[in-house]
Amino acid sequence: MSDRYAVIGNPIAHSKSPRIHALFAQQTGQDMVYGAILAPRDGFAATVFEFIAAGGRGANVTLPFKEEAHRLAASLSPRAASAGAVNTLDFSGPAIFGDNTDGAGLVRDLTVNHDCPIAASRVLLLGAGGAARGALLPLLQQGPRALLIANRSADRARLLAREFSAAGREIEGCGFDELAGRQFDLVIDATSAGLGDVPLDLPPGLFAPGSFAYQMVYGRQSAFLRQARADGAGRTADGLGMLVEQAAESFLLWRGVRPQTGPVLERLRREAAAS
Ligand code: NAP
Repeated sequence: MSDRYAVIGNPIAHSKSPRIHALFAQQTGQDMVYGAILAPRDGFAATVFEFIAAGGRGANVTLPFKEEAHRLAASLSPRAASAGAVNTLDFSGPAIFGDNTDGAGLVRDLTVNHDCPIAASRVLLLGAGGAARGALLPLLQQGPRALLIANRSADRARLLAREFSAAGREIEGCGFDELAGRQFDLVIDATSAGLGDVPLDLPPGLFAPGSFAYQMVYGRQSAFLRQARADGAGRTADGLGMLVEQAAESFLLWRGVRPQTGPVLERLRREAAAS
């Protein structure tokens, strides 16, 4: 019987993960199946245990269960511990292992797919929710010249920055209005505002010449990316590459093989354009 994996979330019907992992399995010749499981909002742990009992070897976890998955895992990778959230569970050992591949996926998409160096760059991270938190350690590990978190609720950004600077890292937090007069080489929108059409309330002049604007939300030309281009960003990208790269990190953890992400990303973009 093929090894079983799944993504667990609520809602889940929209998830591209089954498609991505099917393409990875085909490409690498791995004997596995990957499905999507809708868990009741109050039934995440029960759903996980049911899946394990049915032979599940690993799972991806998406909204709204990433924090609950963090609590459920008996051991955590350092990046999952620092994120406070888990998007990848591995059931192959004696106890449930939790990892968070979102930040690594972001960094790989930026540095490999977009050739955007983070080392020595001035980085602005917009948002202080789960996605921003998950990105922080992998971003800091790249050695940016400066890393500033800015959030609509400034206190959340300050709190997050304090938490990471307590571990000896150079990082600040502020509100959007405190960004006036500052410039960045890389601006990452990790807010969920990209799902709507209202631009973020950002002061002009944030984008250094040749800078890169990246939005984690994917699949639409958002207000943020339009705003970034109008304000001088040299290049822009959405988060589809991050999605594929975080999936590749999960696949590597489970199967010990890193799939080639380029052809899968290209295929997804073609399929999205045709639909
Ligand atoms: P979250 O924990 O709910 O946090 C949402 C963040 O967005 C908060 O910082 C919130 O600010 C901010 N925000 C929401 N609406 C806003 C608005 N209108 N103006 C300004 N700020 C606003 O969500 P999350 O888990 O961090 O996810 C954020 C986004 O990243 C989601 O849309 C998700 O789809 C995307 N994501 C993509 C990938 C990928 O693979 N591409 C992976 C993970 C997440 P306040 O604190 O002020 O409320």
